[in-house]
Amino acid sequence: MGQQQSVKHEYVEYIPEHLQPGILYISLKYKTASHLCCCGCGHKVVTPLNAAKWALTDHGKSVSLFPSVGNWSFPCKSHYWIKHGQIKWAAKMSDKQIAHVRKLDRADAEIYASTTDKSSKDIIPQLWLWIRNFFK
Ligand SMILES: [Zn+2]
Repeated sequence: MGQQQSVKHEYVEYIPEHLQPGILYISLKYKTASHLCCCGCGHKVVTPLNAAKWALTDHGKSVSLFPSVGNWSFPCKSHYWIKHGQIKWAAKMSDKQIAHVRKLDRADAEIYASTTDKSSKDIIPQLWLWIRNFFK
């Protein structure tokens, strides 16, 4: 199974023990969401939904998770965003780059968001360019 390009969501009371690929399970009761890594490796990704971790936005037909999902602790080291039910894959990174981004994780996600928001301050795209150049 290859990389998924989209994900469905399902509200549940309890996160099931066995997850189906391509489904983001959301438990509002336990303020957590879980899905199988979208690269197809089968690892279970748990994304707690709270102010310090992830924010879930329900658009009706689809959901977004913010910030990005970085599975640095898995062998696949997948990194992607879930936006409107679509998987936006980030480029593969080296361990050194991952260590760097982990530090910047919050900023990284905010920069991504700002690239789709034209009203953001000018400094943010510049920072984004700087980071892209850094990774070249
Ligand atoms: Zn994976």
